[in-house]
Amino acid sequence: MLNIVLFGPPGSGKGTQSEKIIEKYGLSHISTGDLLRSEVAAQTELGKQAKEIMDKGELVSDKIVIGMIRNKIEESQDGSGFIFDGFPRTVEQARELRKALTDYDERVSVMISLEVPREELVKRLLKRGKDTGRSDDKLETINNRIDVYNRQTVPVTYYYDKMHKHAGVEGTGSVDKIFERIVEVIGLIKN
Ligand code: ADP
Repeated sequence: MLNIVLFGPPGSGKGTQSEKIIEKYGLSHISTGDLLRSEVAAQTELGKQAKEIMDKGELVSDKIVIGMIRNKIEESQDGSGFIFDGFPRTVEQARELRKALTDYDERVSVMISLEVPREELVKRLLKRGKDTGRSDDKLETINNRIDVYNRQTVPVTYYYDKMHKHAGVEGTGSVDKIFERIVEVIGLIKN
C-alpha cells in the first residue's frame, strides 16, 4: 500500500493536491480538518467543543483526533492506501499514526511537505475566507494558525527526517506544476 502524509502549513494547498493525488493513485483521503468540520456541521457534542478551538486557530486534542483517525483507517481497509491530510500535526499524533498503521502491518511511505512563504499563505487564506466563508479564514485566526503550525507542527518534520521519509516540495507556482513535483517524489519511493 501507498500511505502518504501530505504536510504543510495552513493554506499550502494540501486539499487541492490531495484531490489530484487521489485521482491518480486511488488512495482513501483522510483529512482531520474535514472530519472535524463535519462534526461541527452535524452539531455533535464533539463538534461543539471542536468549533471553539478551531475558530481560535488552536489544535484540537490529540486524543480526539487520533480516535477519529483510527476509526477511518478501520473503515477503509480495502483501498490501495491512504493520504493523510492535515494529520499528524503533533509528534504525539505521528507516533500514534505509526502504531495504528502497524496494527494493519502498514507504515507511512513518505511525508511530502509543501513549502510556501508566509505572505503567500496569508494571501491565499484571506481569499478562501472571502470565497467560502470558512470561519477560521480571518486574519487574526490565520496568523495564530501559522504560529501554532510553526510551534507545534513543524517538529513533526524532524520525526520523519529521522526515518528518511521527509520530502520537501516547493508549494508555489501552478497547481499542475506542484503536482508534477509531488508525482516525482512518489516515483522515488522504494517499498
Ligand atoms: P488548515 O490546514 O488550513 O488549517 P484544516 O482543515 O486542516 O485546515 O484544519 C482546520 C482546523 O482543524 C485546525 O486549525 C485545527 O483547529 C483543527 N485540526 C485539523 N486537524 C487537526 C489535527 N490533526 N490535530 C489537531 N487539530 C486539528
